[in-house]
Amino acid sequence: MGQLAIKVRELNFHWPSGETAIRSCSLEIPRGEFWMLLGINGSGKSTLLRLLAGLLAPHSGEIGILHPVGFVFQNPDHQLVMPSVGADVAFGLVEEKLSPATIKKRVEEALSAVNLLSLQRRPIYALSGGQKQRVAIAGALARHCSVLLLDEPTALLDPDSQVELVSSVRSLVKSRGIAALWVTHRLDELNYCDGAFLLEKGALVDQGDPQRLKKRLMNLEGNKS
Ligand code: ADP
Repeated sequence: MGQLAIKVRELNFHWPSGETAIRSCSLEIPRGEFWMLLGINGSGKSTLLRLLAGLLAPHSGEIGILHPVGFVFQNPDHQLVMPSVGADVAFGLVEEKLSPATIKKRVEEALSAVNLLSLQRRPIYALSGGQKQRVAIAGALARHCSVLLLDEPTALLDPDSQVELVSSVRSLVKSRGIAALWVTHRLDELNYCDGAFLLEKGALVDQGDPQRLKKRLMNLEGNKS
């Protein structure tokens, strides 16, 4: 796939009810780039992300995506399964048949990358929302993910944690050469991305300059009622 981390062609998906959720979507994201996915509620953002992650199967079209893929949900409590930070990050590696020394190294590297190494033994319940999201990201990094898909990861965060998370994902994308697609409603986050896609009723209607798309989304939001 050359330098592309995600290449999607003519993707279509409909629900069992017959409702079309994604129509003729084509998009590309190169390695080392941080893109955002915008659209009003119900435009199909989560559905598109789940299709890219392989959590839903398209009815037609092609999805080329580098693996492993890391997925970060809006609510980290739906994602973190182990009692402590280090154990949770290691959990994603259980199927990889790695030596204990390699697992330890991968977990420590991933936690350092999200600035949580000092909290390795901390119980998950004692973390803030932003720290939990960084544990979820560390889980993906420990698996050496090539692509990070994030579904409104800051929706439950306060403004300080929001800025910390979006800027740390940007630096991870750049330092590790991974690609990220981040769904957001919070328009100030667009300052951190390389480009954005705009979904309207399941179709990608625009892509490119985040500031131009921001204006277009604000018009859509203003007109929706
Ligand atoms: P967004 O993430 O942009 O808010 P979604 O991808 O969640 O949009 O939803 C797109 C459309 O698909 C909406 O019309 C929504 O009602 C519908 N939808 C979402 N999840 C399901 C589901 N599990 N079954 C049927 N319809 C769904």
